[in-house]
Amino acid sequence: MTHTPTLHDVYRARALIEPLILQTPLLASADLAEKTGAQTVHLKLECLQNTGAFKIRGAANKILSLGDEEKKKGVITFSTGNHGKAVAYVAGKIGIRAVVCLSEHVAPYRVAAIRKLGAEVSVKGHSQDEAEKNYQDLTAAEGLVPVVPFDDPLIIAGQGTIALEILATLPDTDVLLIPISGGGLLSGIAVAAKSINPGIHIVGISLEQSPAMLESLKAGRPVQVEEKDSIADSLLGGIGFDNRYTFAMLEKFTDEHLLISENEIKDGLFYVFDKHRLVVEGAAAVGVGALMHQKIDVKGKRVVALLSGSSIDSGDYIRIIQSRFSNGSKQ
Ligand SMILES: *Cc1c(COP(=O)(O)O)cnc(C)c1O
Repeated sequence: MTHTPTLHDVYRARALIEPLILQTPLLASADLAEKTGAQTVHLKLECLQNTGAFKIRGAANKILSLGDEEKKKGVITFSTGNHGKAVAYVAGKIGIRAVVCLSEHVAPYRVAAIRKLGAEVSVKGHSQDEAEKNYQDLTAAEGLVPVVPFDDPLIIAGQGTIALEILATLPDTDVLLIPISGGGLLSGIAVAAKSINPGIHIVGISLEQSPAMLESLKAGRPVQVEEKDSIADSLLGGIGFDNRYTFAMLEKFTDEHLLISENEIKDGLFYVFDKHRLVVEGAAAVGVGALMHQKIDVKGKRVVALLSGSSIDSGDYIRIIQSRFSNGSKQ
């Protein structure tokens, strides 16, 4: 598939991936509605999704769409995080070969998690760039089929199935809050949601630390930004100089952009634990952080914030919760 995905592609994705994914709940947050003056606020709980993040939706749509010859060859990717896990999981489920290329700096627990799902792990290189070189070499040498993390129409259509679930339950949603990294998530959700209701307001949230997509949109072409560490590590990384889909889709579909700071993310993460007893990763807490800090006017609106995943090191998580607790910044 090489065209920009449409609502029809998202419906097809939904039918295809249905056996592998959970239809995640929508949880009402009366407290957030009260704090912000919104009519309602709901949290879409992709933190409870199989493999710990929504990425399985895109990965499943891409891999299940491959022809028999391609499936026989096997798939390859070089993501360290949720996408790598999702590819490993889906390949394992349908019994095909998967290779995940990682750099030597990837945390051992991540390597172990990917191996446990049945994928081969190729650890090579000291940087993400060197890992990517290894990925290109292996792809060519072994004839493996690349499954990229965001800039692919089938990946985008898979992520878009989230919008179908939200609008089936809450058809009058006014505002959707969505984290942005490579933009596959926002592209898919926006194309589906706006095809169903063109008036829906799509808000993209980028990291102050590394707003690669936002800077690219401002520049009118993909640019690289200096990368700093972030508590929302799933949102780090560039959008690719040869970006074919997500850059143009974000330009077309995003109604509003917000930047979020590390402290605001931590406030969101603590809030979700304290009020809702849910564990989420930094990337998933950006929408709640933005609402708590009144970074967007949602008065009288029906709002849905996407909690995109829950992959976070337990030690890091406990330290954040503990520090928020002892600082007295309890909500
Ligand atoms: C990948 C990811 C995102 C961002 O998705 P993109 O398609 O790269 O914009 C957000 N949250 C989590 C948990 C992710 O793993």
